[in-house]
Amino acid sequence: MDESSISHFRNGTALEKSRAHQKINKEATKMAKDPVCGMDVEEQKAAGASQHKGRSYFFCSKSCKEKFDRNPEQYAK
Ligand SMILES: [Zn+2]
Repeated sequence: MDESSISHFRNGTALEKSRAHQKINKEATKMAKDPVCGMDVEEQKAAGASQHKGRSYFFCSKSCKEKFDRNPEQYAK
């Protein structure tokens, strides 16, 4: 019981650190195009990501990722 609360605390601390880091590197935010619906998606905020033929694709929602995963050839160009 004690151990789990300690790990919770550690996770929270790590999360706060990475958030602060993101603010500093705001200009480094990478934008990607969701190949399914065509929306611009921030890579860090993407609901999902898939690899296809060595490329990374990012999605605005899980349903877009599922569509892509079912038929990547249709969307990857
Ligand atoms: Zn989408």
